[in-house]
Amino acid sequence: MAGKVWFVGAGPGDPELLTVKGRRLLEEAGAILFAGSLVDQAATLFAPPGCEIRDSKDMTLEEMSAWLLDQTARHATVVRLQTGDPGLYGALVEMTRPLTAAGIEWAVVPGVSSAFASMAAAGETLTLPEVTQTVILTRVAGRTPMPAGEELEALAAHRTTLCIFLSITLLHEVQRALRAAGWAEDAPIVVVQKASWPGEEKIVRGTLADIKKRCQAEKIASQAMIIASPTLGAADWPTLARSKLYDPAFGHRFRKASAASEETSA
Ligand code: SAH
Repeated sequence: MAGKVWFVGAGPGDPELLTVKGRRLLEEAGAILFAGSLVDQAATLFAPPGCEIRDSKDMTLEEMSAWLLDQTARHATVVRLQTGDPGLYGALVEMTRPLTAAGIEWAVVPGVSSAFASMAAAGETLTLPEVTQTVILTRVAGRTPMPAGEELEALAAHRTTLCIFLSITLLHEVQRALRAAGWAEDAPIVVVQKASWPGEEKIVRGTLADIKKRCQAEKIASQAMIIASPTLGAADWPTLARSKLYDPAFGHRFRKASAASEETSA
């Protein structure tokens, strides 16, 4: 038998945020390799009896590839369960290449990224008409260096929504970069730890000036998303530019613009 390996996005933590397809594959899986503490609940909840379940937290990439490959000899469906979406900081290519080289079929099932779950938890929006229409998913350099031109300082100059992964222990570096890019000291920043985890989610709101102190006070040092965005707090703004999509004067594929509202808004 030559089974297929599915790289399944587990979502941000809440097992209910798995996709229907991801859940079906877990229910059919003969073997599941899951990524550390972030997704074990989903793996054990939906895995069938007798399924081989292995935590990858103490394995090297080579060992993970070898394990997946080995399982395809015994099982039709082998799942590699990853946090959020497998294509974001998921070492996906490093794991798929050895499978391709061995002639093993594989496919990716997308997942709800923690960037989206964090904004959802905070009740915030990633984009807002006439404020920002762009989202940058990034990180600051840790042991992995940033490619030239992708330094946070350069990206922050665009004044878009910034979802900053893997950087909670480098908050000082985030602050430095935003200041260097000209963000104001009172620019709002939200940090969400364990977004969507039932009973464990923490949301810390602050500004460029005080976000680090606030996170320290809440003892947030891991599994957290930093979001800096000119959209934060928009729910409480006194005035808001209206989204063109819902503006009665704006026709689109599913609705004709109304002449009357065009006149009144002109
Ligand atoms: N593929 C994942 C990201 C993996 S990198 C995704 O799409 O979300 C790991 C980083 O993701 C963490 O350092 C943290 O910044 C973020 N992260 C993962 N799960 C999170 C959660 N539930 N809440 C907040 N941030 C989370």
